[in-house]
Amino acid sequence: MSVSASLRVDIQQAARVMARADELAAISEAPDALTRVYLSPQHLQANQRVGEWMRQAGMTVWQDSVGNICGRYEGEQEGTQAILLGSHLDTVRNAGRYDGMLGVLTAIEVVHSLHQQGKRLAKAIEVVGFCDEEGTRFGITLLGSRGLTGTWPDGWLAQTDANGISVAQAMVNAGLDPTRTHLAARRTEELACYLELHIEQGPCLEQQGLALGVVEAINGARRLNCRFTGEAGHAGTVPMHHRKDALAAAAEWIMAVESTTRQRGGNLVATIGTLDCTPGAVNVIPGEVTLTLDIRGPEDAPLDALLHDLLAQAQDIATRRHMRFGAQEFYRIAATPCDAQLQTLLADAVTRVQGRALHLPSGAGHDAIAIAERWPTGMLFVRCQGGISHHPAESVNVDDVALAISAFTSAVETLAQR
Ligand SMILES: [Zn+2]
Repeated sequence: MSVSASLRVDIQQAARVMARADELAAISEAPDALTRVYLSPQHLQANQRVGEWMRQAGMTVWQDSVGNICGRYEGEQEGTQAILLGSHLDTVRNAGRYDGMLGVLTAIEVVHSLHQQGKRLAKAIEVVGFCDEEGTRFGITLLGSRGLTGTWPDGWLAQTDANGISVAQAMVNAGLDPTRTHLAARRTEELACYLELHIEQGPCLEQQGLALGVVEAINGARRLNCRFTGEAGHAGTVPMHHRKDALAAAAEWIMAVESTTRQRGGNLVATIGTLDCTPGAVNVIPGEVTLTLDIRGPEDAPLDALLHDLLAQAQDIATRRHMRFGAQEFYRIAATPCDAQLQTLLADAVTRVQGRALHLPSGAGHDAIAIAERWPTGMLFVRCQGGISHHPAESVNVDDVALAISAFTSAVETLAQR
């Protein structure tokens, strides 16, 4: 096929992806906002629709025991190892229409073009539409991908939604058997690797003028509750050099957090998102300030080094000002590095369609976090307008989607012939 002819095909496929994203966006529990949660009638309806599209693309289709919709395009030899492509079909409340869905719909297009050409590859291709990544209904995330890895914790079935309905009951209501969730687990040797295409949900690609990017890692994160304890006092009577002003100490540290993290580079980010000052009166010197620290980065070691330095700075500030500082970590998730070989493969494919490849970390969590525990994992990002996501204004460009399908298809074909 000539370059222009193949581009025309990609544009047609991209247009179909956009139309299907619109169609899925109409499958919502609310008429005027997109909300589609795990085990709802809309979830089952979306699975059915996506299953039909998978069948049209030449796949055999099944819904697994936790509610993922799965399709398989057989390789040259039946039962051979598969490359898994996918993303999620559930949404947050009042969501955009591409977060998750774009990855499933473009994966179907990759298979569709093979099917059109009657082409079988050495490896099979499987596509999965994960049932719950966002955790909107039950407050627990990655239920679909943890179904595949067989790592549902014991407590999940008893977890309840806002109406007191448990996961187990909701499964029964949806026609699934809560005693059989383990059957969704895949044996390690069945799958070669996992590739997920997703909207960036941030502004980096747009700022660089690029349609596509290669994810280097899904950021790890640490969250801490912190406290400066000084001494409250009369705003009129205590002289400046006698004060132990906890808010002034916190302010000094906040500026240090910003400048230190900037200097460190390495795609590290740090945020102080809350601040509570007591007693909190116009005429009282602040005696105590509690604040939160959230830091994230693509690699655990630099992240931990940054955390160590920021806490040491806080301690120095407190000591110099004759007050106390304390911090307690309440949340920690390790960084998930993407597989180096898959990054190279995706970067080659991306370079072919847009001239160069940008490697960037993912600031948001994805199904790839769970899957990477068992299989080599790669992610491709597609530019989204203004970096806006988890919002009805979420938007992607059809030409970018065409480039994405082109790069995704060539990466998968290369990989499947190895
Ligand atoms: Zn997502």
